[in-house]
Order: sequence, then structure tokens, then C-alpha cells
Amino acid sequence: MKLGIVGLPNVGKSTLFNSLTKAGALAANYPFATIDPNVGVVSVPDKRLDVLTKMYNSKKTVPATIEFVDIAGLVKGASKGEGLGNQFLANIREVDAIVHVVRCFEDANVVHVDGSIDSLRDIETINLELLFADMEVMERRYSKTERSARMDKTLQKEAAMQKRLLDHMEAGNMAKTFELNDEDEENYFKEYNLLTAKPVIYAANVEDEDLADDGANNKNVQAVREYAAKEGSEVFVISAQIEQEISELESEEEKQEFLEAMGLSESGLDKLITASYRLLGLISYLTSGEDETRAWTIKKGTKAPQAAGKIHTDFERGFIKAEVISYDDLMANGSMTAAKEKGLVRMEGKEYVVADGDIINFRFNV
Ligand code: GDP
Repeated sequence: MKLGIVGLPNVGKSTLFNSLTKAGALAANYPFATIDPNVGVVSVPDKRLDVLTKMYNSKKTVPATIEFVDIAGLVKGASKGEGLGNQFLANIREVDAIVHVVRCFEDANVVHVDGSIDSLRDIETINLELLFADMEVMERRYSKTERSARMDKTLQKEAAMQKRLLDHMEAGNMAKTFELNDEDEENYFKEYNLLTAKPVIYAANVEDEDLADDGANNKNVQAVREYAAKEGSEVFVISAQIEQEISELESEEEKQEFLEAMGLSESGLDKLITASYRLLGLISYLTSGEDETRAWTIKKGTKAPQAAGKIHTDFERGFIKAEVISYDDLMANGSMTAAKEKGLVRMEGKEYVVADGDIINFRFNV
């Protein structure tokens, strides 16, 4: 699962990416972390892991991770091949969701490609390029489907939908606001893998003085919020520069002190990573023992055998039962023994849908 960081040049993408990957140094032993300098593996912060590690005296702790990709600057005209144009768009096609960095900070020393700070104009510039690229894809597809549908009636339904989608986009609408009427349409739509259908988080990059009130007095942040609300996307107010400074601090204590001095309770990065994980539709179930305490990433809605398969394919093949307790139940009772006495440790079968924070012990045949 990958998130792409996009935005115009000089909005703070690399600064954000660098602080993300520094903060994620824990995950630096992942092999692909070093292959491509634009891809970073980042640990998903999860306080539950620290608590369980202490409780079980685990030798190591393994957090969930997600990947971020720093996608080189998009400029006006990219869909026509300007700048890194097509390369940029191809990179975005490969990600599962987008973090769209929007410049909301004023700084005369950092030039803006369009000469002034205007968050709404910037968002529209980027989204229009993405929309142009999608329209090109759909025009090609539609002309092909429409031709084939003359011979093959089974294709008519899809051709009709493609036409509707094209009309929707030509009116300036993103694919994500297109209404799908049934399961067939959902399946066609998924296959197109459109850029403007991908989930987005807008990261409003501000000066430090805008952090304490979450950008309430910054009109560029307000404009981002209004825009995002219309398409149902989330907005995070963040200062890439501050995050970079935090990520350079050596110890947890120093970080806490720094945050407190800024009047903040949590680093913006932690919030952004957690929100990105959620945006991807991901949750974590946990395993804990003397060897390790670990978070395992699954898609929301995953059933117990497939969740077990994340640990080992044998676990899925030979799945018998899952012994499950929720993290909250365990905490409320203080120990596994106490929780068991109250019947809070459940035996779940093949149809059980795993929940976030489930602590699981799988029973399986080898
Ligand atoms: P990119 O082109 O989008 O990757 O932008 P960079 O991350 O390279 O940032 C461009 C410039 O803006 C750099 O000089 C950064 O130090 C600066 N910058 C990034 N974030 C902030 C911020 O929150 N406040 C200020 N004042 N400058 C920032």
C-alpha cells in the first residue's frame, strides 16, 4: 500500500517526505527503503504496541508500516507532457491514495511558481492536470468500447457508463464524485484506475504560528477546507518545516518538550500517518508474546483465515480457529487470565471479520 505525495513545486513536499522518512527510521531495515530515494517506509504510530510489549516482556516490537512516495513536482501542462509530465502521472497511477500538499505559508524567500500564495488556485491547477489525464484515458477507452459494442451487445452497458463518466469529467468534475449505479459499474470503474478517483488527504502546509489554532486564522487554509468539504476529503494542517525540525531531535523526551513548547499534544506527522492508514482502508490486528509484539496490516473487512495468511500461508490453509480478545477488553481487565475468567476471550471461526485492535492467537493444522 502506497501513498503518493503530490503538489506544485516549492510547496514543501520534499520537506514533508524527508521528515516522514526520518521519523520512520525504525523501519529503515526494510530492504526497499533504500532502493529508491523517493520511496520511504514509515512506521504507523500505535501506542498499544508499547503497552503490550511491556505486558508480555517481548524481545522486539514490530509496527505496521506504509509507504510514501515523493512524486516530483507537477506543473501546469503536465498532462500535455510539460515538465516531468507523463512520468509524474504514471507515478501517481501506481499509488493507492494521495497526500496533496498545499502551500499556505507566506515566505518571501521561497518563490512560488505562480508568483503568489493562493491555495485554491494551486489545488485546482493540480486537480485539473489529473482530470485531463483521466479524460484522455477515458476517451481512448470509450472510443474502443463503443466500437466493439456495435458487434457485441454485452459491451453496451459499459459503453453507456463510459459516456456518462466522460460527460461528468468534461463538466469539470473529479471521477471520485461520479455516481455508480450497480456492481457492474463499480467493477468497470475500478479497472480504469483513474487518478481523480483516488482518495486524497490535503496537507495544508503552514507557518508555525498557525499550528496552535489549526489554521483557523489563515484564509488559505480556510479555502482548502471549503474545497475539500465539497469532495468529502480530509484536511490536515501541518508545518513541514517544524516537522523536519522535530524529526531531527534525538530523543522522545526532546520531542515531547519541543511539542509542548509549541502548544501541541502530538506531532502533525503522527496524525497524518494515522489518517493515511485509515484512508487506505487499513486496520491492524495484534499478536503479542515473549518473542515479539507486532501489528499486522489488513484491509477492513478481512476474515480471520485471510488475516492469518498475513503471518504465514500455512496459517490460512490450515486455519481452525482464532482466539481473540480486543485490546480494550484486555486493558480493562489488566491481564489475560482475568479477561479469560470473564469470558472475554472468544473462539472465532472462518467467517469472523477481524477488528482493529484484536489481539489474536491462531489455531491451525500443519
Ligand atoms: P517541494 O518542491 O514541494 O518538494 O518543496 P520543498 O520541500 O523543497 O520546499 C521548498 C522550500 O520551502 C524549501 O526551502 C523549504 O525549506 C521551504 N519550506 C517548506 N515548508 C515550509 C514551511 O512550512 N514554512 C516555510 N517558511 N518554508 C517552508
